[in-house]
Amino acid sequence: MSKTLIRGAKVLGGEAQDVLIDGETISEVGTGLSADGATVVEAAGQVLLPGLVDLHTHLREPGREDSETVLTGTRAAASGGYTAVFAMANTFPVADTAGVVEQVYRLGKESGYCDVQPIGAVTIGLEGKKLSELGAMHESAARVTVFSDDGKCVDDAVIMRRALEYVKAFGGVIAQHAQEPRLTEGAQMNEGIVSAELGLGGWPAVAEESIIARDVLLAEHVGSRVHICHLSTAGSVEIVRWAKSRGIDVTAEVTPHHLLLTDELVRSYNPVYKVNPPLRTERDVMALREALADGTIDIVATDHAPHPHEDKDCEWAAAAMGMVGLETALSVVQQTMVETGLLDWAGVAERMSFAPARIGGLSHLHGRPVSAGEPANLTLVDTSYRGVVDPAGFASRSRNTPYEGRELPGRVTHTFLRGRTTVVDGKLA
Ligand SMILES: [Zn+2]
Repeated sequence: MSKTLIRGAKVLGGEAQDVLIDGETISEVGTGLSADGATVVEAAGQVLLPGLVDLHTHLREPGREDSETVLTGTRAAASGGYTAVFAMANTFPVADTAGVVEQVYRLGKESGYCDVQPIGAVTIGLEGKKLSELGAMHESAARVTVFSDDGKCVDDAVIMRRALEYVKAFGGVIAQHAQEPRLTEGAQMNEGIVSAELGLGGWPAVAEESIIARDVLLAEHVGSRVHICHLSTAGSVEIVRWAKSRGIDVTAEVTPHHLLLTDELVRSYNPVYKVNPPLRTERDVMALREALADGTIDIVATDHAPHPHEDKDCEWAAAAMGMVGLETALSVVQQTMVETGLLDWAGVAERMSFAPARIGGLSHLHGRPVSAGEPANLTLVDTSYRGVVDPAGFASRSRNTPYEGRELPGRVTHTFLRGRTTVVDGKLA
């Protein structure tokens, strides 16, 4: 059994402590711990977090291995400080059967870089018409508890109601991509001043907000649990805040890009800024940051959406929607939330590890306290680092980042998955 001593790290941003890892487990946390027989990681000044958990990742396998595979996606995840990711169901074939979710789960196990928890599709083929075999996916080896048609909205209220009723029996959750389809036909960007000036089809805030309003009411009616993917508007925040104040069992996520970027960037016509839901206004960005700080929004989720060069490097209207995010998420959160004074590192740990693990039903394995006896899933961050994002260095197979050439703070120096280093000195092991 190998031992590692992480020396002098600020645990969750607090006091400097030593953390001793013995095999797969944290064996001791304290000061002046003996390094006897252990590999020492000098971590003075660095912040130690529980391994990050992403509730919203597109790994693209099976079917679109030209943009990402489970192996390359989990390598990207480890680079970004993640020890577990939830893989969205919009693959080819769609993850709507026990067979496909078990395949993704097994590929994750084989990757060795990061645990992969498959998300099952709510409806067969993501077509929104017939419920998939939710129970069979839950009972499979993958133990699916999160279901989503992400990429598409479960827009039929009756199907949404049945899905909420079905997962209630085993404590599952429906993660909704809130997009009223008729209101967003031909949509190319946020509907507002910029879309009017550019003459591009608008994606109005109300298309998101109306679905969220309906779904929190459905969750209340059924007495079930709903999770809202990638909140992007100030109005969505208000609805979730109202729902929580009413005691409705709703959780919500925000992406790093919606915490930093606005629709002004679309003026460049650079398709790297094309994403769904679209980049919104400065007012929305500020409301999302505030909501993440006050707990209205529970978690940060990346919506890591890799696309090959040919699907992004084309004219705006033809380009695919989505951005890679696993390798830059923590840096964007440091810049937008920590350096603005809105969150401390314990707050970041809550929103990027503890809470996503709880929502996804993984908190027996991930999002655990940094204390003796716990699994050694850990992320060490050099928060004083400043660097310019260079996608050429990404572990992801895709390069569609909106941050190329932008200076961002912070760098993951080490990631530990059950005691084994997946990242050492900022490089994949
Ligand atoms: Zn989505």
